[in-house]
Amino acid sequence: MSGDVKKKVLESIRAEEVIELAGKLIKIPSENPPGDTGEIASFIKDYLGEVGVESELHEPVKGKISLVARIGGGGDKELVLNGHMDVVPAGDRSRWSFDPFSGEVRDGYILGRGSSDMKGGLAGAIYAFRKLVEFEKELAGTLTLACVADEETGGENGAGYLVSKGIAVGSAVLIAEPTGMEFVDVGQKGTFWVRITVHGKPVHGSLAPFAGENAILKAADLMKELLSVTELRPKLSEEMRRVVEESKPMVDKLVKMKGMGKILDRPTINIGIIKGGTKINMVPERCEIDVDTRVPVGMKSEQLAEYVQKIVSKYGGEITYLERSEPNFTSPDSEIAKLVAENAAQILGFRPKPLIEWASSDARFYRAKNVPTVHYGPGELDLIHGYNERVKAEDVVKAAKVYAGTAVDYLRPGA
Ligand SMILES: [Zn+2]
Repeated sequence: MSGDVKKKVLESIRAEEVIELAGKLIKIPSENPPGDTGEIASFIKDYLGEVGVESELHEPVKGKISLVARIGGGGDKELVLNGHMDVVPAGDRSRWSFDPFSGEVRDGYILGRGSSDMKGGLAGAIYAFRKLVEFEKELAGTLTLACVADEETGGENGAGYLVSKGIAVGSAVLIAEPTGMEFVDVGQKGTFWVRITVHGKPVHGSLAPFAGENAILKAADLMKELLSVTELRPKLSEEMRRVVEESKPMVDKLVKMKGMGKILDRPTINIGIIKGGTKINMVPERCEIDVDTRVPVGMKSEQLAEYVQKIVSKYGGEITYLERSEPNFTSPDSEIAKLVAENAAQILGFRPKPLIEWASSDARFYRAKNVPTVHYGPGELDLIHGYNERVKAEDVVKAAKVYAGTAVDYLRPGA
């Protein structure tokens, strides 16, 4: 039965319609900051309204509007198709060789800001959802479309809000974020950002270094010691270890530096900002350091916190927490991960591999609730957030097929 439905759904997908939708989404600016998604959300609401689907709009803070629509119902399963509508700013227009909001198709690519991250994938998800309206009666469960705001600035007022309020959590989540076609994201590193303040004893500069206590010099010693955080190692399950090892070559390829795959099984640390001292002829009383560390899968941010605290205490400093999220992981053997890989294999002719990524996304909100969550979507990964962003048009169409096929399989009666 489900095979039959799937065939009909896939045959009904029109490449030119998917591509046209992606172009229209790109043409609507939704740069974040400021992150206003009102116009794009109302476009999607109308697009779904054309086939009789009602959408809810949620606006936890002004302008950050997320859209939720549902079809099907009955049964316990709920698949959430998620995509963010906001994009990073286009930046310096003179660095683009085309209009960042053109949305036009040239040489097989759809062009513009957000084409890869992630209006291409978003178009595929919206299109697949709208197609499935005709087949709604065949779905044993609920298919939810969540087009969210705020992802590029942390997601608390987008997916984070929908999850914390229980509006759209689901029993499985497929996020149309770009992974290229060869990978299914099943895990991500966490974030642990702190500001460290160290104190000195100010005296006149003409007496240093024989008198006073220099906060900058203290901070310099502290920073050197802090770098040892990279020696910590996570506790990896067999399954995690396998995915980490298989993901390492992908990191090398993406950042175009050999051996960088090691960032997946240890913390990284960047001293990003340092502020200290008031005057050239005064011994500095205070120095502040902003530190960005990333937590690998298999470790908790608490471990990093304890480690950093120990070092900071030695120097009599204080820590202010700036940002904190846990690493997260969904088993590649979970139903949703397997179905995405199988459907991709049917459409593409090869099976995408599970991947752990090193940046974080909205997936963390769902995974924190133990909802199996994967990313799969079209995108030219090296152009994300850069100039001349584009996406392969045929990949957007293939992604739409993978989303539709996965939804039919996940919500098939008796599954
Ligand atoms: Zn994204």
